[in-house]
Amino acid sequence: MDENKGKICAVITEESIRAASERIGQAARFARMVELRVDCLRDLDFADPEPLRALITNRPLPIIITCRASSEGGAQAIDDEIRLRLLAAALRMGADFCDVEAAFYDRLLRLSPDVGRLIVSYHNFDSTPADLERIYEALRALPCAVRKIATKANKYADSLAHLRLLDRAKGEGIDLIALAMGEAGIVTRVLGLARGAFLTYGAMARGRESAPGQATCEEMKELYRAEALSANTKVMGIIGKPVGHSASPAMHNAAFRAMNLDAVYLPFEVDGLEEFISAVARSSRLSTGLNIRGFSVTIPYKTAIIPFLDDLDPASRAVGAVNTVVVEGGRLTGHNTDVRGAIAPLEKVRDLEGAACGVIGAGGAARAVVYGLKQRGAEVTLFARDPGKAGPMAREFDISLARIEEVSKERCGILINTTPVGMRGHSEGLSPVPPDAFDGCEVAYDLVYNPRETAFLADASRAGCRVIGGLEMLVAQAVSQFELWTGKRPPIEIFLQAATGKRSLLP
Ligand code: NAP
Repeated sequence: MDENKGKICAVITEESIRAASERIGQAARFARMVELRVDCLRDLDFADPEPLRALITNRPLPIIITCRASSEGGAQAIDDEIRLRLLAAALRMGADFCDVEAAFYDRLLRLSPDVGRLIVSYHNFDSTPADLERIYEALRALPCAVRKIATKANKYADSLAHLRLLDRAKGEGIDLIALAMGEAGIVTRVLGLARGAFLTYGAMARGRESAPGQATCEEMKELYRAEALSANTKVMGIIGKPVGHSASPAMHNAAFRAMNLDAVYLPFEVDGLEEFISAVARSSRLSTGLNIRGFSVTIPYKTAIIPFLDDLDPASRAVGAVNTVVVEGGRLTGHNTDVRGAIAPLEKVRDLEGAACGVIGAGGAARAVVYGLKQRGAEVTLFARDPGKAGPMAREFDISLARIEEVSKERCGILINTTPVGMRGHSEGLSPVPPDAFDGCEVAYDLVYNPRETAFLADASRAGCRVIGGLEMLVAQAVSQFELWTGKRPPIEIFLQAATGKRSLLP
């Protein structure tokens, strides 16, 4: 198996030479190369690049000097002749590489640069052309050190075209940077090095990205371990829209790292479910080289995905929602680990057989909870704000139904909140039930996990109940997913740590 020899390259997009120099000094923590985007500098006279000399001479890492044309994404309009002279001068100052757009290659050659240190690049910020191979062949014909092709991915198939290009370049002994910009490009950014890319870019911080879809260097190195992945890396991820705030990549990747597994978990922001299924989930390893093993499913696809699957496990069939897909032998099987995730924390503290359980709310999470409770032989009452709307669900699961206002009268031994009431950014500080709902209650369980201390749980604690927070379910459902994909049990503390380290907690 070929070793992953690529590097994470930190892109420096600071506006002053001083700030750029400081950033370059910090880059070595997560990167092995830096690219200075000179076109971002606002305090440099581009006709006199001398102030860059000290920065280039004292570089702690190999440096690429780029002064991008505004027509190809440059930060400001700079006269092309001046830009090209600056690049040639930077090479003479000792820069390891200069990046020049293919459209300006001939003009740069007139300045006699060392072509052995040139990166020749092609950009398309709108789409990924169908003739990517022709573009590669045109770049390959130009004498230089490295070729770069960056295009906007409007669908996952665009990203896979880049991976195939990397395979071809590797076979031909050509150093290539091929990447797709935009959310769907994450596959190329993280897996590119494992497929032989010369480098993959990372931002120095959030908000300092030089192109759409760029992760930070820290994420590339610590979260995704881009430099450690291989052509055999098992690929998992989460599909949904949005997925940017999901805690799942942090949890699963932390466990892969702790267990030293050759696996990665990616955020797949999906616009077209059908396209993702055909291009990625059902992609054959022969055609794309992707070793896809499965993915989590979140809003808005938990039900919409069902028609695309070959099989459903009994839990997802009964709940009518899938939160996990396992890909095996070309078949896609839907699972619902929310069921096990919801019940596992409860089972740790109480035998559920015959237990009187009150479930507040009648949405998607409530279906998973009710199904799990019924499986364990619990006596369930559903408390809904609109019993008319919740009626069909109560009949389907053969459980009692009551108005939410009646919860205090029912005296349930276990009370479970499945509504979003109390959630940060929604109704933090509120509880879906009054404090006297906990009279006679032994265990209170809130599916809301952000904040960890909800008003519902605070009232329950004051009433002497044992309390369980939603973080336990979040972790337990992820543990079940991990087991389905890898056949291994992950360290739960790692999941907990990763989930709580994330600013916004969403599965
Ligand atoms: P959902 O499908 O939208 O269902 C929400 C339910 O809550 C509906 O029955 C809704 O009633 C009811 N509801 C909303 N506001 C209410 C209020 N003010 N008073 C009374 N009832 C109210 O959402 P979901 O997917 O089930 O998720 C619900 C909560 O569970 C969210 O906070 C989510 O973050 C959490 N959750 C946690 C985990 C975990 O791992 N810990 C997993 C899944 C979900 P109507 O039908 O009348 O609108």
